[in-house]
Amino acid sequence: MFKLKVKTGDSVLIRVGKDRGKTGKVLRVFPREGRLLVEGRNLVKKHVRPRRAGGKGQRIEVPSPMPVARVMLVCPSCQKATRVAVQRTPEGRRERHCKKCQAVIP
Ligand SMILES: [Zn+2]
Repeated sequence: MFKLKVKTGDSVLIRVGKDRGKTGKVLRVFPREGRLLVEGRNLVKKHVRPRRAGGKGQRIEVPSPMPVARVMLVCPSCQKATRVAVQRTPEGRRERHCKKCQAVIP
């Protein structure tokens, strides 16, 4: 399966859409869909029905998954939005590098 360069816990900059220019933390990735969930971003209003008869329904805002192509990874060492290089170490591990400062991104 195609592996995404962004993973849970990463900080990303949103480049397209209503949250463009904002950063956020990745809560979940959906590799099969090529989408990710960013904390507090791409919010949609969800209508919640009342739980009991006579109770009140509400509209709550929840994040919805957006395409990975909308975001760029923010490098934890140089704090810039960057592209990512993926390399295999001699031991066969997968290692991500920042294309701007070359630092290894955990
Ligand atoms: Zn960097």
